Amino acid sequence: MLHQVLVSEVGLRDGLQSVQRVMPLQAKKDWIAAEATAGVREIEVGSFVPETLLPQMADTPALVEFARALPGLAVAVLVPNLKGAERAIAAGAGKLSIPLSVSETHSLKNVRKSHEAMIREIAAIAARIAEEPADQRPHFEVGLSTAFGCTIEGSVSEDRVVRLAEQAIAAGAAEVCLSDTAGYANPRQVKRLVRRVKAAVGAGRLNALHLHNTRGLGLANALSGLEEGIDTLDSSLGGLGGCPYAPGASGNIVTEDLVFMLAAMGVDTGIDIEKLLRVRALIETALPGEPLYGFTPAAGLPLGFKGRDA
Ligand code: ZN
Repeated sequence: MLHQVLVSEVGLRDGLQSVQRVMPLQAKKDWIAAEATAGVREIEVGSFVPETLLPQMADTPALVEFARALPGLAVAVLVPNLKGAERAIAAGAGKLSIPLSVSETHSLKNVRKSHEAMIREIAAIAARIAEEPADQRPHFEVGLSTAFGCTIEGSVSEDRVVRLAEQAIAAGAAEVCLSDTAGYANPRQVKRLVRRVKAAVGAGRLNALHLHNTRGLGLANALSGLEEGIDTLDSSLGGLGGCPYAPGASGNIVTEDLVFMLAAMGVDTGIDIEKLLRVRALIETALPGEPLYGFTPAAGLPLGFKGRDA
């Protein structure tokens, strides 16, 4: 297992996109700044979807501008298509992620595009990025959503995950990420699929997992990925957003619990966990009554916790 792992905070995008109340811009900025101060090195600050579709994400350009000014912070955004990518590039985002749903039914329902149309969109974005000066090109990632199962199609063919990963890389993506959108993954499946996709596209083209904790297997799945060389894990502070299908379940894996696990194992994330644990107070104030999750925030750190096991 690696000794350094990048924890990528996605609460402002994945978490907030399922929260109805719009979080005030200033509160989002405070959240980003507080996590950056705690040592978080990558934050997905929003998504470039049409405002009418998701009013919660309307301030994404302002958040990119704000976050870019914070030293050492990689600023990621989600883009649904070329138009979104153009807006993200204009705003100066450092990393663009586009979701490509392995379940074609999910893709048609979600973005009204077939796999073929999505691959064309990915190629168009890669070509657009290549027009930028070499030192200003954002990193371009394709998130293979529903890679471990889909709420509409059920189980998803691993061959299809591998094939789409290959097509995304061939179309010009720098890397792919495996996303457990529905919280269906189990640790053995994670291990198997990470190995297969790495073997197909090259080890350096799959570094990240995007996991949800719908059935409580999020950290087990994360550990399984780490054992296969994954070095980037998406998570959400307080598991914000929850899961519409599973009351009581968090959304993404909880940043605080993930950072605690990594610190306890002696894996370096660059994050000061005590500072991180204080960030959720900002969200509680800005979104009163919004459910937050996580065991470490509830239990506190173990007595004399030093951040490594031996
Ligand atoms: Zn997600």
